[in-house]
Amino acid sequence: MPRIEETIEIDIEVYCATCGSGLCGQSTVTKTYNRGVHSVRVEVCDECIQNAISDVRHDLEDKIDELEGIIVGLKEDICENEHIIKNQEDTILDLNNKLNI
Ligand SMILES: [Zn+2]
Repeated sequence: MPRIEETIEIDIEVYCATCGSGLCGQSTVTKTYNRGVHSVRVEVCDECIQNAISDVRHDLEDKIDELEGIIVGLKEDICENEHIIKNQEDTILDLNNKLNI
């Protein structure tokens, strides 16, 4: 049976379904390993990666701000507790001095 082969050139454009960026520079046409059919291999969208990094950075900055607020509150609690302890020590010293008189 004769086999006819014909080459057809197809122009396609590839866009990220998430952000809409063009991915033609990040896409290659290849053949599948097992079946040998044409396929388009698309790398992860750089714009989406940068957006994800930015989102994570903002989340981390918010968390850092929250933790810094907690630390400030704890330092204030420690200072207040140290002041209370100092007052109690002074009171005990005063009572001891009065009892010794
Ligand atoms: Zn994208």
